[in-house]
Amino acid sequence: MKIKFIGTSSGKTSLRRFHSSILISSSGKNILIDAGDSVARALLNCSVNILSIDSIFITHLHSDHIAGLPSLITQMKLSGREEELRIFTVPNSTNHIKNILNTCYLFEEGLNFSIIYSEFKLSDWNHLNDEIEFYPIQNSHISNKLNVSYDQQFISVSLVFSVETKVILYSSDIGGKNDLNLFTGFNSDIMILECTHVTTDEISSYIKLSGCKNIILTHIPDETEEKLEKFVNKFDVKDVKLSLAKDGLSLNI
Ligand SMILES: [Zn+2]
Ligand SMILES: [Zn+2]
Repeated sequence: MKIKFIGTSSGKTSLRRFHSSILISSSGKNILIDAGDSVARALLNCSVNILSIDSIFITHLHSDHIAGLPSLITQMKLSGREEELRIFTVPNSTNHIKNILNTCYLFEEGLNFSIIYSEFKLSDWNHLNDEIEFYPIQNSHISNKLNVSYDQQFISVSLVFSVETKVILYSSDIGGKNDLNLFTGFNSDIMILECTHVTTDEISSYIKLSGCKNIILTHIPDETEEKLEKFVNKFDVKDVKLSLAKDGLSLNI
């Protein structure tokens, strides 16, 4: 099983990193998690064949996680895709995603492939195929702070993947340090932790308590990159590996 970091920047556009996206590959299947701005270009940058993506997961609908979806679907169309594409997304968002695509003149009638939408069953194991299951956990990253009237629920998820015999925990964007408690009880082989909404002190305390031995930080703002590099270089806990992701980083697990 392989994990490839396609984009590792925060919500702020960077010249050093693309927006959030991770590719998990197992048994010939490729799952793209999140599709931020310019994800199609980010995939090219990592030499990933756009047609090889079987499923796309959307953890929440902030633009740095979804705004690249229309252009990615367009590239699939232009590249002659015929295989079905599955999109997994947060509850009550399918129609919104369809509207985003339709607004860009991407109608299913005009594609040579079908798109199958599945909304996450929260706090439960969801089946993807014989090798892969995933467990979406709602976190507090998004709430209706403005109290606006809108028919979409404000839901963001972290994801636990069970792939072959390994467990991968992906925080995606979280609301703050309290959301780290949501991962208690999942013994992950690798944790991919965002570092925009938690401090280095909070990350350090969490790692010591969690027992996770391999943590990779992502969602990295340009402004704090240097501080994060120093933090990672200085971090010294026995048998624990902490590293900073970068675009194109590929790991065999
Ligand atoms: Zn984000
Ligand atoms: Zn977000």
